[in-house]
Amino acid sequence: MNCTEVASRLQLFIDEELIFQDMESIRKHLQVCPDCEKRFQTEKLFKQTLKDKIMKRNIESHVVDGVKDFIHNSSN
Ligand SMILES: [Zn+2]
Repeated sequence: MNCTEVASRLQLFIDEELIFQDMESIRKHLQVCPDCEKRFQTEKLFKQTLKDKIMKRNIESHVVDGVKDFIHNSSN
């Protein structure tokens, strides 16, 4: 697999949605290609950060709902 092929499958690789052979090919390519390895790390970090933000927002909105309930209940 060359760099272009790896780059086009990187998202799927991170999500582990490729067939086993493709996962292995990319894994092997990343070990010998610093450019793709770097791109992979960047993409992975970006995805992780995004996930953290979404989770954090879910928690915050949950807290807000809790406060709203509290205000609602205490006004009755
Ligand atoms: Zn490469």
